[in-house]
Amino acid sequence: MSYLFSPSEVTSLAIENSQARFPIHRIYCVGRNYADHAREMGHNPDQEPPFFFLKPADVIVTHGESFPYPSQSREVHHEVELVVALHRGGKEIATADALQHIFGYAVGIDMTRRDLQNAAKEQGRPWESGKSFDYSAPCSKLYPAERIGHPSSGRISLTVNGEVRQQADLNQMIWKVAQIIAELSSLFELKAGDLIYTGTPAGVGPVEKGDRMVAAIEDVASLEVVCE
Ligand code: MN
Repeated sequence: MSYLFSPSEVTSLAIENSQARFPIHRIYCVGRNYADHAREMGHNPDQEPPFFFLKPADVIVTHGESFPYPSQSREVHHEVELVVALHRGGKEIATADALQHIFGYAVGIDMTRRDLQNAAKEQGRPWESGKSFDYSAPCSKLYPAERIGHPSSGRISLTVNGEVRQQADLNQMIWKVAQIIAELSSLFELKAGDLIYTGTPAGVGPVEKGDRMVAAIEDVASLEVVCE
């Protein structure tokens, strides 16, 4: 068997203290998982459960790389998020078993063309042009759970040019990581290599060309990306 042309390269992430890399299968994202962010976007967090969308695996940007300002948008927002990396998949995973499927954690930024996302929402159209564009998923290297445990609290923050834009605590997540995995696995068959962006706290806002974003989860991970 031969391919008509060479298949795309596998996108992967570095792993702390390891020569091996983590090959990415899919990128799932959780919407509105912090009450303050749901409110800033004009929604009542008490009235709706979080929901999911996807980004392609090859839109990852890693630490030290640049984020090219995307075309067709004048309002590109940062959303700092805890990222969960799975080394085991499954369907209908029980909440009690979910943490066993996690290889490790990272900090990521769910970059969003907010103007295109808002237009899609108004017209009842899909979100891909607002959420799933090239370079839209900056992500740090991975930190294995066997070394750092499973962080359920701790400061999550994002600065732009040194100014704090987002800061919150992971314990403010509406749906916890194990619940997210259980719910996702009832909708999709999860696989080793899946990443889950677990939602952003309040303070999302625009970046401009030349801005330096630093995302961090205290005692877990940090990530620096410059917007070009
Ligand atoms: Mn997000």
